[in-house]
Amino acid sequence: MAAQLSIDQSIAEQASAVGHEIYGLIERLYPICRSITGPGLRASIAMLREIVPLEVDEVPSSTQVFDWTVPPEWRISEAYVEDPGGKRIVDFSRSNLSVVSYSTPIDTVMSLDELRPHLHSLPERPDWIPFRTSYYTPNWGFCLPDRVLQSLSAGKYRVVIRSSLAPGSLTLAEHLHRGATPDEVLIFAHTCHPSLCNDNLSGVAVATYLARFLSERPTRYSYRFVFAPATIGSIAWLARHEAELSRIRYGLVLSLLGDAGPFHYKLTRKGDHEIDRALRHVLLTQQREAKVLPFSPWGYDERQFASPGINLPVGRLTRTPNGEFAQYHTSADDLGYVSPEALGESWLTCLRAMEALENNVRYLNLSPKGEPQLGRRGLYRSTGGYQNIPERQFALLWVLNQSDGQTSLLEIAERSGLSMHLLASAANDLERAGLLQAISDRATEQGGQDGDGATTPS
Ligand code: ZN
Repeated sequence: MAAQLSIDQSIAEQASAVGHEIYGLIERLYPICRSITGPGLRASIAMLREIVPLEVDEVPSSTQVFDWTVPPEWRISEAYVEDPGGKRIVDFSRSNLSVVSYSTPIDTVMSLDELRPHLHSLPERPDWIPFRTSYYTPNWGFCLPDRVLQSLSAGKYRVVIRSSLAPGSLTLAEHLHRGATPDEVLIFAHTCHPSLCNDNLSGVAVATYLARFLSERPTRYSYRFVFAPATIGSIAWLARHEAELSRIRYGLVLSLLGDAGPFHYKLTRKGDHEIDRALRHVLLTQQREAKVLPFSPWGYDERQFASPGINLPVGRLTRTPNGEFAQYHTSADDLGYVSPEALGESWLTCLRAMEALENNVRYLNLSPKGEPQLGRRGLYRSTGGYQNIPERQFALLWVLNQSDGQTSLLEIAERSGLSMHLLASAANDLERAGLLQAISDRATEQGGQDGDGATTPS
């Protein structure tokens, strides 16, 4: 049996400390002006690279990726609006949300009436700055608090955006953790938003620390972490790796993992895949308020992975979903909106999901006629440091009873209501006692691994 991830109490106790590290990474990434291309995106990837090794792929502008074309690279150095008195009422140096992402350059003077269609605010949240983009339609604009907009008086305004849209590249980055089998679990986080914490520095930073955690451990599956701009980035990555997609067994898009809201798992296109059942089980056994959402062809990059020509089972894990919290895509999605505690809990939840997938094996009871005598084998005792002895014994009995070679551990978890961690550890003990045998899953266990040898089956 290949080595499988086990997320025990000692790892759970690290969640708070890791949450603070994740938050620290978000604090460093937050000030950078990111977009779907450009130096801010590259600088952010360089920062992640200090934590985990990343392979970077620069996709040149104008490259055709499926039905899309990689846009020119956007760079910006300065942008502001001066009122008739010469006061800067909007300044990119104060907030990189102040400029519509991908704004074309401009340096002119115009009336307030001419300027107004290019100013964006949120009347219902007069102190917040909205996040706006114009990636594929050449345009320019500024975002500002509605309170400032309402205070403007008629007159001539100086409008300056020192930006460029020129041939360059779009930055993709990935980290591969090699497991005992070449079957891959894809973890995707979008990297293109500027100073917004929950969407999606939380996803980027949690994924980075998941990669770092796995790099020190043997696993059954290989894990491919992909960091790419939303939509054009996932499409570019898919187009450049189309020949290798069959290795992906399933995947998870990570976003919005830093707020205090309950977890929300969005089902894959098919909706009843192994990853759907694993996430449903992990979330609902851990958090009463957690919700499972139906698939829909909008949202984040799960919709690219779910397009009919790609058709990969990729779900999505968030806390409060996109568009369902007021701070979404505004300056209020800041360092105060996310917390180390929520980030640490999200990290641990992702690990529990990985643990459930890794341990979802079918077993055969080798002593199936009547219950085997557990006491004689030292299994039916209150030893071993397990705090909840009855649950531990239930787990042994459930695994023995259901292990007919057809029933997976996840099915046993669903039926018993016991956690995958408990059932996997019970199965491990039963296997060691010679009472249980894992049934090889041909799809995952036949291939050898000729990689870097960093992880090997135990
Ligand atoms: Zn977003």
